[in-house]
Amino acid sequence: MVPMPSTASAAGLCNFVDVSPSPFHVCRTVSVQLEEAGFVRVEETDAWPTEPGKYYLIRGGSLVAWSTEHDRSGRSAGSAPAGPFRIVGGHTDSPNLRVKQNPDLESAGWQMVGLEPYGGAWLNSWLDRDLGISGRLSVRDGSALREVLVKVDEPILRVPQLAIHLSEDRKGVTLDPQRHVNAIWGVGNSPRSFISYVAEREGVDPKAILGWELMTHDLAPSSIVGVEGELVSAPRLDNQGTCYAGTQALLAAVQNPTDVTPVLALFDHEEVGSMSDRGAFSDLLNTVLERIVLGRGGGREEFLRTMAGSICASGDMAHATHPNYPDRHEPAHRIELGGGPVLKVNQNLRYATDSAGAGAFALACDQAGVPLQRYVHRADLPCGSTIGPITASRTGISTVDVGAAQLAMHSSRELMGASDITAYSEALAAFLAPAAPVRG
Ligand code: ZN
Repeated sequence: MVPMPSTASAAGLCNFVDVSPSPFHVCRTVSVQLEEAGFVRVEETDAWPTEPGKYYLIRGGSLVAWSTEHDRSGRSAGSAPAGPFRIVGGHTDSPNLRVKQNPDLESAGWQMVGLEPYGGAWLNSWLDRDLGISGRLSVRDGSALREVLVKVDEPILRVPQLAIHLSEDRKGVTLDPQRHVNAIWGVGNSPRSFISYVAEREGVDPKAILGWELMTHDLAPSSIVGVEGELVSAPRLDNQGTCYAGTQALLAAVQNPTDVTPVLALFDHEEVGSMSDRGAFSDLLNTVLERIVLGRGGGREEFLRTMAGSICASGDMAHATHPNYPDRHEPAHRIELGGGPVLKVNQNLRYATDSAGAGAFALACDQAGVPLQRYVHRADLPCGSTIGPITASRTGISTVDVGAAQLAMHSSRELMGASDITAYSEALAAFLAPAAPVRG
């Protein structure tokens, strides 16, 4: 059966990013799109669904979605193995400036909010921007706790640069993450509580707030730029580009169920090492995959057989060749914006790709009719990594690292090709719904 094309577009990506300032909002945005397509939310504390269907679950800032609708054909329900998993992975978090636990500061007559970097934020890019606030609160509700999502899309915070006249030799300053990224939010000496302000904005009693994960986001809306509109300028493209493309790919893939079980796995905490209850190092993906097999009546043996035939595409953004710094790139591996999805290979396994995984993704690109670019980092520069090597080692599933090209990775404002988001999503859709039989 021919896979349905993805409906991903540059405008759709801009909308997705603008309503998703935090990992928790990414999960909510994806869940809204999934529910519109008939996906049903599963709670991990409840009994697992035994009926074939389209499901998803959220654990903190991570989300996993899957479809077992192919079981409706009677081909595989209760029998073993039930067709392998085809997984598209990605991460929901992006580097940013986050709010400290005692955030209220005063300095030289300014009212300040104490911030610190999350992940490898490119600090200079956060200066002189109008910043909003997002994240979540843990709120006392009687003797229980409830979660409140926070999204303040107003210019409340600002981290100003030092004037050039005040820097030594007018060469700028080296930014210190402890001293130089606190935000101004007012003037005067009357003390003000930042957490109380957030509570008021969300209609919550400040005394009921017992915990929070709050972060800042640049308020400039995402836009389509370039003389012919061939570029997307947006925050958090790393890695909401994959969250968006992967979601659209899954929605396309489930329209024509194939022999495989398509899975979308979006993890929080990739930018800080993935070691948490919901990061790629956690048991999240393994438990979901096992419960899918158990839910359809299989046992441990069926689970292990299903895993052995499965394959994962770890999606994360890739470095396009920078026109002002071409010497920073491997000269024989030029990556172009608009040149299609990127296959990432690293001999030291910073990327998980091996030849079998490369073959599966190259075949998907071929079936989707999109070109494929191949990326290798300069051998004399340290290479970044992704969830790919982590999920490969945690699951034992063959994994391929892929992505879409961009400039300015980890800047508060990034740049990618408008056509690439569609091509990337179509390749992922073909990967999730392979046209050829995957079992002999
Ligand atoms: Zn990333």
